[in-house]
Amino acid sequence: MDGAGRGASVSLNDLKKSYDRMTAVAGVSLDIRSGEFLTLLGPSGSGKTTTLMMIAGFETPTSGDIAIDGKSVVAMPPYRRNIGMVFQNYALFPHLTAADNIGFPLKQRGFGKAERAKLVGEALELVHLPGHGERYPRQLSGGQQQRVALARAIVFKPRLLLMDEPLGALDKQLRENLQLEMRRLHADLGITFIYVTHDQEEALTMSDRIAVMNAGLVAQVGRPEDLYDRPGSRFVAGFLGESNFLPAIVRGIEDDVVVADCEGAIIRALCPGRPATGDKVMLTTRPERIRFADGGWNSTASQNRLSVTVTEAVFAGERCRYILQAGGGSAMVLKEPSSAAIRRRAVGERAEIAWSVADTILV
Ligand code: ADP
Ligand code: MG
Repeated sequence: MDGAGRGASVSLNDLKKSYDRMTAVAGVSLDIRSGEFLTLLGPSGSGKTTTLMMIAGFETPTSGDIAIDGKSVVAMPPYRRNIGMVFQNYALFPHLTAADNIGFPLKQRGFGKAERAKLVGEALELVHLPGHGERYPRQLSGGQQQRVALARAIVFKPRLLLMDEPLGALDKQLRENLQLEMRRLHADLGITFIYVTHDQEEALTMSDRIAVMNAGLVAQVGRPEDLYDRPGSRFVAGFLGESNFLPAIVRGIEDDVVVADCEGAIIRALCPGRPATGDKVMLTTRPERIRFADGGWNSTASQNRLSVTVTEAVFAGERCRYILQAGGGSAMVLKEPSSAAIRRRAVGERAEIAWSVADTILV
């Protein structure tokens, strides 16, 4: 049993959930560490909510196991799992004040009035709402209501907090503020957070690790920078950030680098597996890792180069965004920080582009 930290550890072992012939979760295995901020990220319908509901105990798995601190909880009712939960739609009781909403789980657990008042006061401070306890939900803004829901989820000091798209209903500015606050709260409490979102930027900003879900399965799990820099599949490369995809044919392997024919040039890429010569593959690279390279760049073995034509040029404030056509006909996106000192490219212009082999992944 892992009870060392303030946070619970959670192990999902080949977890499945089917409804009639519909499979919502198709075999998820995941080890979430004590005190970790783990995000389930995936498109709508990928099985995030169902996975979370099974951890909370509101859905029963069709097969597989869930262990909290090393102990199977599949047969345990939700209230005994002692898990905090926050939903997208707040789910506050409209006829109760903020303080009574927050105190509700304490009442359920038999805490006395004085103890409840003390814990509710502490929780209101943790979510930056001191003095708002006597207001009713309708007298609070969306962001404030979500803070009350958050306070209610942590007031009984659970070791695990589950959140299902908690910021989904809020506007961008508020969402970004609350993202930072959730990070801070996570650090202060030291408990385990499992957070669900379909927003890749939110996942990258907040998480210690991200599990990318697709069609009821975990496509890849890792730290945000690892997933971004080393996507293991075309799905992950496309879902997490923006990616260029270039079809290529493998010519050979030099050390750990794949050498491929691509868009009329030789392109080198990193690759975890070992493709065979002649294999048709897809190479991927991020738009912000590509640079215009006329003249000044040395052609080295660690740089890829291509000749392209500019087909679209957009000034977007902090950066310029170009659509380029490569020799083989593929469209590529290049993003460049904007600067008055950099010459802007015009549509129709020919250009050389370069990017690092380390930023080129075979997926
Ligand atoms: P997400 O939260 O990633 O959007 P869900 O876990 O809600 O995904 O749903 C996964 C899939 O399971 C979806 O195709 C959804 O329609 C289906 N599903 C979820 N709950 C039920 C249910 N109670 N009955 C039938 N199908 C369901
Ligand atoms: Mg959902």
